[in-house]
Amino acid sequence: MSSTIKSPWLIHYDASSCNGCDIEVLACLTPMYDVERFGIINTGNPKHADIFLVTGSVNERNSRVLQQIYEQMLEPKVVIACGVCACSGGIFKECYNTLGGCDVAIPVDVYAPGCAVRPEAIIDAVVQGLGILEEKRLAMQAGTFVAAPKPAKVSAADKQVDGQTVRDNALRQTLEKENSNVA
Ligand code: SF4
Repeated sequence: MSSTIKSPWLIHYDASSCNGCDIEVLACLTPMYDVERFGIINTGNPKHADIFLVTGSVNERNSRVLQQIYEQMLEPKVVIACGVCACSGGIFKECYNTLGGCDVAIPVDVYAPGCAVRPEAIIDAVVQGLGILEEKRLAMQAGTFVAAPKPAKVSAADKQVDGQTVRDNALRQTLEKENSNVA
């Protein structure tokens, strides 16, 4: 078994969380859940991390930070969206400055919903992430690995589709596809 599977290191970034989900991430490290006993270490260095835990919704400014952290992580790597804000923008989705969940900025492998996300859901997402890490590692060994494509750039201007303000990334892509079919 690879050392990656045995002891994944993770990096946590608070995009614009209300801190509810961040407290639950920290709870995973406390004696109650104690994920360090499985070798899961919270590191501050993206180059040391296998798993990227993101909490909070994404806006123009933090999308660039998210992308920088993501790009500094070495492959294979896994991104976990922790909490409904990181999954989709959550209750902040319709705010003027919110672009959506973290998948508008970087590719996401596992979605762990909840408001706040429960520690059990975070641990479950990390376990799912381990399987994905292993698949990516094997693909790299076999020479068949393809890095996940970057999401289309989203900005406040991008949200204007056919005169409508569209803040939902999936809906925006659907409308753009429909528009291109008509043209
Ligand atoms: S999902 Fe809920 S608890 Fe987590 S950051 Fe958003 S509002 Fe806060």
